[in-house]
Amino acid sequence: MKPIVLVTFRANENDRKIIEEELSKLADVKYLLDMNQNYLRRISDRVRAILTGSGRDLKEDLIKELINLEMIQTLSAGLDHVPFHIIPDHVIVASNAGGNARAVAEHALALLLSAVKRIPQHTEKMRKGIWERRKYGVLLKDKVVGIIGLGHIGREFAKMAKALGMRVYGINRSGQTDVDVDFIGTLRDLDRVLRQADFILIALPLTRETKGLIGENEFRLMKRNVILVNVGRGDVIDQKALYEFLRTNPGAIAALDVWWRYPKRDEPTFQDYPFHKLENVIMTPHIAGFSPEIRENVIRNAVENIARFLRGEKPRNIAKKEDYIQ
Ligand code: NDP
Repeated sequence: MKPIVLVTFRANENDRKIIEEELSKLADVKYLLDMNQNYLRRISDRVRAILTGSGRDLKEDLIKELINLEMIQTLSAGLDHVPFHIIPDHVIVASNAGGNARAVAEHALALLLSAVKRIPQHTEKMRKGIWERRKYGVLLKDKVVGIIGLGHIGREFAKMAKALGMRVYGINRSGQTDVDVDFIGTLRDLDRVLRQADFILIALPLTRETKGLIGENEFRLMKRNVILVNVGRGDVIDQKALYEFLRTNPGAIAALDVWWRYPKRDEPTFQDYPFHKLENVIMTPHIAGFSPEIRENVIRNAVENIARFLRGEKPRNIAKKEDYIQ
C-alpha cells in the first residue's frame, strides 16, 4: 500500500491539483480538514509525511497518533512557528525556503525604493494639499547595500541590486555564495557591514541565534541616515532599540514588512512602541511573500521536496532543530 502524505493546511482546489499531480505516483494524499477522528485513526499508521502551512496547525495529539511519521514539510520559508518540542527526534522538518523568494525580494526592493525616494512621505503631504519639494531622493547607484541573510531571498535581492549598480555586501552562515557580491562574510563581519552600509536588508530566519541580533549596539554602528528594510522576522530586531534609533535619528528610515505583534482577528495592530506615529517608518502588513503568481511555485516547491524524500533522496532545507529549541 502507498504511504500517505497528510495535508494539514486549508488547501484550495488549485493547491490540491498541484499536490496530487506531483505526488500521486508516490503516495496517497489526504486532507486533515476533510476527515473525522475515526478516519484519521484508521489511516494514521500509513502517514509518512505532513505538508503543513507554517506549522501552527501541528498539535501534540496528532503527532502522537502518526507513529510512522518521518517528515514534516512547511509551506512557509520560516520555521519559527513549528512546535519543535512535540516533534520526535527522528522526524525531519524541512522549510520551503526559496518558494516565494522572488516575491519577497521584489517587495524588499519596492520598500527600499519607496524609502530612498521618500514616496510615502510625499504622498501624505500631497493628500493634505502640501506641495513641498525640499526632500529629494538619493540614488541607489554606487551605494552599499548590506544583506544580512544572503539566502534565497537575499540572493534574489542581490541580483537586482547589482543590476541597479549597487555594491552588495552579504552575510550568511557559510561565508560563501555563488552570486555576484562585493563582499561575503559571516556574523563575525556584521559590525563592518553595518558600519559601511547605506542600506541594510534583513532577510534572516528567526532562530535562537538571530533573535534580537540587531539591537542597541548594532544601531550605534549604523549610518545616521541608513535605510533599514526588514522582510525576515520582526524579532530579529530589538523593538525598543529600533524605535529609539528612529526617534532620535529622523534621517534614518525603517521599511518594515514583518512585526513583533500580530493581530488575532480584527483587533487594531499596534506594536509595543508607536512606530505608526513616526514619519520615518514605512509599513506593510507582512505581505512580501504573497502574490497570486507565486502561490503555485510555493506549493510546487514544497511538494517536490516531499517527493524527493519519498523517492529516498535527501530533501532540501532540512532544519537543524537545535537552532529553534530553547
Ligand atoms: P534561506 O534559508 O534561503 O536564507 C536564510 C539565510 O540566512 C541563509 O543565507 C542563511 O545562511 C542565513 N542565516 C541563517 N542563520 C544565520 C546566522 N545565525 N548567521 C548568519 N546568517 C544566517 O531562507 P529564505 O531566504 O527563503 O527566507 C529567509 C527568511 O525570510 C525566512 O526564514 C522567513 O523568516 C522570512 N520570510 C519572510 C516572508 C515575508 O512575507 N516577509 C516570506 C518568506 C520568508 P546560510 O545560507 O549560510 O545557511
